[in-house]
Amino acid sequence: MQRRKFLKDTLTGLPILLMTPSLLASSCNKEEDNDPNGKSVIIIGAGISGLAAAKKLKGKGFDVTVLEAQDRVGGRLRTNRTLGVAFDEGASWIHGTSGNPITNLAQQAGMITAFTDDESLVCYDIGGVLRSDTAFDNAEAELETILGTLKNSGSATQSFEAVFNSLHPTKVNDRLWKFLLSTYITFDLGDLDKVSSTLYDEGEEFAGEERISTNGYDTIPNYLANGLNIQLNQRVSKIDYTNEKVKVTYNGTITEADYVLVTVPLGVLKSGNIQFVPALPTTKQTAIQKIGMNCVNKFLLTWDSAFWDDEQYICYTPETRDKFNYFVNVKKFHPSVNSLMTFAYADYARHTETMTDAQIINEVMLHLKDIYGNSIPNPTNMLRTKWQSNENSFGAYSYTAVGTEMQHFDDLAEEVNDRLFFAGEHTEADYFSTAHGAYLSGIREANKIIAL
Ligand SMILES: Cc1cc2nc3c(=O)[nH]c(=O)nc-3n(C[C@H](O)[C@H](O)[C@H](O)COP(=O)(O)OP(=O)(O)OC[C@H]3O[C@@H](n4cnc5c(N)ncnc54)[C@H](O)[C@@H]3O)c2cc1C
Repeated sequence: MQRRKFLKDTLTGLPILLMTPSLLASSCNKEEDNDPNGKSVIIIGAGISGLAAAKKLKGKGFDVTVLEAQDRVGGRLRTNRTLGVAFDEGASWIHGTSGNPITNLAQQAGMITAFTDDESLVCYDIGGVLRSDTAFDNAEAELETILGTLKNSGSATQSFEAVFNSLHPTKVNDRLWKFLLSTYITFDLGDLDKVSSTLYDEGEEFAGEERISTNGYDTIPNYLANGLNIQLNQRVSKIDYTNEKVKVTYNGTITEADYVLVTVPLGVLKSGNIQFVPALPTTKQTAIQKIGMNCVNKFLLTWDSAFWDDEQYICYTPETRDKFNYFVNVKKFHPSVNSLMTFAYADYARHTETMTDAQIINEVMLHLKDIYGNSIPNPTNMLRTKWQSNENSFGAYSYTAVGTEMQHFDDLAEEVNDRLFFAGEHTEADYFSTAHGAYLSGIREANKIIAL
């Protein structure tokens, strides 16, 4: 049920590749020494990619300063504990624990995780009609087959939706199919009418369990940040790499360094809120424009007591696509907590950001009442995200849109003039849109700077 996992597990013949041995080795290296080497680096953004790079570079004797726009580190690894339970607003899962660098990092950082069982699932149609396991499993298997070949009918200019609809017109208005496409394609990538019809299953996957953080994913950035020189509340507005020393402007201050590593999200690069002097190379500008930025919003609702099924996932197949269509039962890994976490994706996610809390609760409750009856109580509390309007990301994560080429991810990762470097989930062709991809990108760029 989790992002990416389904596609990678089910597509026929796809090898599960682990990251290259050299990158894995260097991502696990103990930091060697702190002897100053006379070189300075400014890292823009204290998300996991920026912090991973900062820690590695500091260990190699670089004079590292991290500039972060927000009042805390972590970026899209952000945990809200105001309701007494860790609600991860961004990443929740370690997607595949075997060989995944986040697995070790989580252990070092003290992040506690729980296995989420994809088989523990119940699915309801409208009217609260239980869908049989067989019907659900058969549709999933058919989706697997379809995804294995759909790209053969696709093209660089056609969306996933256009090709799917022409090949499978009878499925377009089928609620179960809307649900499957929503949770397995739109959640992971983006609006079906914008997702590429040829690149919907790119990237690599780690084997092993899906594990969800139970005490908060922010334990990892907090651990990485320890001992680093991080300046919070510093929003970078200009990067001038005309001369040998790169000048960075933030909050009216200008500081220079030998190297600058930019780790702000793709959405921020798209916004143009950071001015580059001279303008970035055309290849990079094209990549920024062509790769898509999805929006996913998460909602945690709590009750005094639980009224729902004792399963990990409660699925619902409404008419409206991408709208509160599955619920993670938090009680399965926090037995004393009566909470459900639900999601909105893509266009509907962006729409939720215009809705009041009361409107959100009302819409979620319409789905839950349809399943469990009108007598169920309203939630006592709700937490929500607004990733699209968040000026620190302008979206949730990158994806392969119509017009994206895999080379564009490499173009985003390309250094400019050996002094301006780029990291972040959107720069990792193999692992884009994930916490591990972001982490590996930070290590990758630190290694490049060290090699200079
Ligand atoms: C809703 C959601 C669910 C997700 N679920 C998962 C999951 O379950 N598993 C998984 O592996 N991944 C998941 N991800 C993806 C994962 O969270 C990200 O890929 C990863 O955290 C990105 O790290 P990063 O360092 O690239 O960027 P970020 O964490 O976004 O860091 C960039 C930093 O730059 C800062 N910044 C922005 N603009 C400026 C500026 N002008 N000046 C200074 N600083 C600036 C930001 O504040 C931020 O701190 C999810 C993401 C979201 C949003």
